[in-house]
Amino acid sequence: MKTQCPECKAEQDIPLEYKGQNIKCSSCKTLFSAKEYTPPPPEKPSPPQKQSESPPIKCPKCGSTQIMGGRRGFSGGKAIGGAIALGPIGILAGLHKSKKIVISCLNCGHEWEPPNNP
Ligand SMILES: [Zn+2]
Ligand SMILES: [Zn+2]
Repeated sequence: MKTQCPECKAEQDIPLEYKGQNIKCSSCKTLFSAKEYTPPPPEKPSPPQKQSESPPIKCPKCGSTQIMGGRRGFSGGKAIGGAIALGPIGILAGLHKSKKIVISCLNCGHEWEPPNNP
């Protein structure tokens, strides 16, 4: 069986009949009462907690999440970039201010009006 020296924490492999008896540590020569020692199991790294995210807006036509929000018919590289940087949350936040905003799918080009969330 295994026991552990209380002094130097060295693990000792001793015959079972030595259990409870005083044995001498082979490392630091300390006399100690042999108690059965079970090495602790190696700690498993806990899996990363998944953050609950609101489901991304998907194109109802093709299911793509490559979408952007903007005014209908409005084209402009800077504006599109800004809309993407805001992300779906930014798009939704802007919905209440203007109903002219539509969501455009960058994949298939489908445009639709965002759902009205209270
Ligand atoms: Zn020892
Ligand atoms: Zn699409």
